[in-house]
Amino acid sequence: MSGWDHRHVIDLSAFSTDDFTTVLELAQRFRNLPVTGTRKLPALQGRLMTTLFFEASTRTRSSFELAARRLSADVQSFAPGSSSLVKGESLLDTARTYVAMGANLLVVRHGCAGVPQILAEALDRSGDRVAVLNAGDGLHSHPSQGLLDLFTLARHFSPDAPSPEALRGRRVVIVGDVLHSRVARSNLWALTACGAEVVLCGPPTLLPDQFADFVAAPPPGQAVDPVPHRGPVRLVRSLEEALPGADAVMTLRLQKERMHQHLLTTLESYHRCYGLTHDRLALCGRPVPVLHPGPVNRGVELAGALLDDPACSLVEEQVRNCIPVRMALLYLLAAADG
Ligand code: ASP
Repeated sequence: MSGWDHRHVIDLSAFSTDDFTTVLELAQRFRNLPVTGTRKLPALQGRLMTTLFFEASTRTRSSFELAARRLSADVQSFAPGSSSLVKGESLLDTARTYVAMGANLLVVRHGCAGVPQILAEALDRSGDRVAVLNAGDGLHSHPSQGLLDLFTLARHFSPDAPSPEALRGRRVVIVGDVLHSRVARSNLWALTACGAEVVLCGPPTLLPDQFADFVAAPPPGQAVDPVPHRGPVRLVRSLEEALPGADAVMTLRLQKERMHQHLLTTLESYHRCYGLTHDRLALCGRPVPVLHPGPVNRGVELAGALLDDPACSLVEEQVRNCIPVRMALLYLLAAADG
């Protein structure tokens, strides 16, 4: 746990290479624990984790809850539709209500970028000892997803000792709706910190040119970049150009709920140009793993046959890794709080 000094986890732009190493090492230890027939680890006994999700979730919320339970924490979930939000209670007052009930860890998902950060700052100002974990805020950031994607890739390249080094010099293609993807943004910070080369691929409407400079130092809100030398980012418009020489391909969901203009002609034409199939993947020139954060639009971002092919799809492995990575984050935040 050398040097871990985060009281909240909001964005991976604040992570140093040591922070990534710490999370991956701890996640590997948790991942190696037998899942069935074991007693829970006592690390978070007496702590309360509350999930405040203002947006839909399948994987993130349930894996945070399972991770907390495996560490013996109590778990409480907030359901916006049946809460006093509908009577006009503010978001901050809602969060404070859960803190007053004893929440030590608040896992927050919201459709607006910046909400977890605002909550963390307000709770810090009022002296509340509670850690805020961003579980996805608008287009901005999804740090635990970036970490579990990194862990999945690091384990693929170095199964016994996953570390940032396992990614150094690897070429990772991220294809699709980068513009609306908080997952892509978190992966950009994580992968470049580990020295990977990131190739972004998509049409101009979903991947504006400015993304080539996304990780230009220093990160927003910070005086210096905690990572002195990041891997390069390149932007290309076709998979035919992106795939040759790739070491891994990360596909992204088309975030239709965040598209307020007509940015696509048809899903069929998107699939024809940017959908990943076995044939397209062969352009990499060697067997290469495929990732997707889920939920998948089958036959749009990824052909169903590729998604279901265990020889190349790491999608289920990403889901398995949700739990040990989120255990690692909860453990580190609880330990930082004493
Ligand atoms: N589940 C991820 C997120 O919440 C990816 C997605 O929804 O496309 O950002």
